Amino acid sequence: MFTFSTFSARLRAFMLLLGLLPIALGTIGFAFYSRDHIISDAHQELVHTAAFQKRLIDDWLTGQANNMQFLALDGMVRQRSRDGMHNLFMSFMATHPELDIILYVNPEGRVEVATSGELGVDVADREYFLAARQGKGFISDVLISRDTNMPIVIISSPLKDMQGNFGGAVCSILRMDAVNSLLAGLRPEKGGESYLIGKNNVLLSHLNGTRSADDLDVLDGEMLERIYSAASRGVPYKSINDGLSVVGATTLAKDGKWRIVVERPLDSVLAAAAGQSRLFGLACFGALLIVAPVGWLLARSMIKPLRDLAGYAHEVGKSGETRACPPVAEGSPKEVLELQRAFCTMVDQLEENAETLRQMAVTDPLTGLANRRRLEEEGIRLIDACLRADASCSALLVDIDHFKRVNDTYGHAVGDDALILIAETIGACCRISDLPARYGGEEFVIIASNTDARNAMVLAERIRKRVESTPLEVDGMALTLTVSVGVSEYTRTPSYGLSHLDDVLGKADSALYAAKEGGRNRVCLFEPAPQDGS
Ligand code: GH3
Ligand code: MG
Ligand code: MG
Repeated sequence: MFTFSTFSARLRAFMLLLGLLPIALGTIGFAFYSRDHIISDAHQELVHTAAFQKRLIDDWLTGQANNMQFLALDGMVRQRSRDGMHNLFMSFMATHPELDIILYVNPEGRVEVATSGELGVDVADREYFLAARQGKGFISDVLISRDTNMPIVIISSPLKDMQGNFGGAVCSILRMDAVNSLLAGLRPEKGGESYLIGKNNVLLSHLNGTRSADDLDVLDGEMLERIYSAASRGVPYKSINDGLSVVGATTLAKDGKWRIVVERPLDSVLAAAAGQSRLFGLACFGALLIVAPVGWLLARSMIKPLRDLAGYAHEVGKSGETRACPPVAEGSPKEVLELQRAFCTMVDQLEENAETLRQMAVTDPLTGLANRRRLEEEGIRLIDACLRADASCSALLVDIDHFKRVNDTYGHAVGDDALILIAETIGACCRISDLPARYGGEEFVIIASNTDARNAMVLAERIRKRVESTPLEVDGMALTLTVSVGVSEYTRTPSYGLSHLDDVLGKADSALYAAKEGGRNRVCLFEPAPQDGS
């Protein structure tokens, strides 16, 4: 069953929930929001790193090609002086450690000078020589050196002899290690990775330096496509290295022939988001600690007056009596004040209605005098009080004379007016301590406390005379009414009926009978018969 305390407990729980729910939702929402933002920021950073690496690799390759062009313009080379070239190449190598070998290939495609000392090799069919024959510079893809088994890049530049004819080519062999160390310097921090993919999905660079360099790994094309797609959009994906989730970025280098991929582990990226979310949650919790007491006070300011009101309603309901409406604490919510006001007004109204009903139950509706029920209740009480006080008390029974004729002659409505007029006349003659009542039909009773028979006779006579001298106006004519009155004083020992009231009324009725018998419009005092002995 619902009780007030369960309501207040629910209200408090609800207020608490109201405080905690936004914090929980806010923290989760913030975590998701900041997670996306942090991933996006990390991706942007990686895009910049990839772009920077591309520039570095392209510039480095261009620089290497320029070196070969520079050597090809040297007089020693153009004169095809073997010793001169050998010395030139050796001194050039000394300042360029990334170069493995520099060699000169004569116009027929034979190696004539080589810093490695291996001469006479026929390279006429190699791409780098064929390009030189067409007067073009050339940068090869990554190849595996036949001598060292290491990945290498060959760069060549054509040269013209002193006569301006094709004079062969100057070539350099570069170790890919050089590219790797170039990339290593730019690897993203915190476990980040960056690698190069060449033609046919070949992995050109080391992965975290663990890959053995003696052959070139061919990676799964589909997997690479997925990586490129995720890395271009900034969506986390599984790394090819260790299968962990990473955020990446990718770009093309070397005229679109090489692809650079840079990555950072998702965990390290999100570490920042987790910290921010924790901070946000803590801030919200701190805010709740401040807001909660305010909420508690607010709930209390609502519950307290409602509880008072409920207690008041309970008491009114139980006792059926109204009492002062409970005051509502200042600062209570407007709605609670209105509820209290409405409830108290309703209780007042109920009380008023109950009082009206109570009055109606004991009042004669025509004359407004007390009815028979009230006469019986109040009459007994009055006579008892007189008995206790050893005071006298009398009853007057007033009956309108020939009232039936009034009804028959003028109609019932005039009869009612006559009843009203006589009731007013009786009321006007009584004291405040007397109890005038309509006994039934055209008969009235007055219980006059502290009044002995003699004084009661005076009162009866006053009523009789006042009625006689107060005619009822009927259609402009005066209709004189008269009453007969029977009077009796109560005695300590009742002889008529069981109660003192029955006794005194019975005796008054007997006196009334005598008054009627005596000719009406008169007052008679109850005379006890000699056998009564009183
Ligand atoms: P008596 O002098 O002997 O008392 O004669 P009476 O005509 O007054 O007495 P009776 O008992 O014969 O008639 C009483 C009449 O009072 C009869 C009844 O119709 C009338 N009466 C009783 N109550 C009312 C009422 O509330 N309104 C009206 N208009 N008449 C009433
Ligand atoms: Mg009568
Ligand atoms: Mg009568």
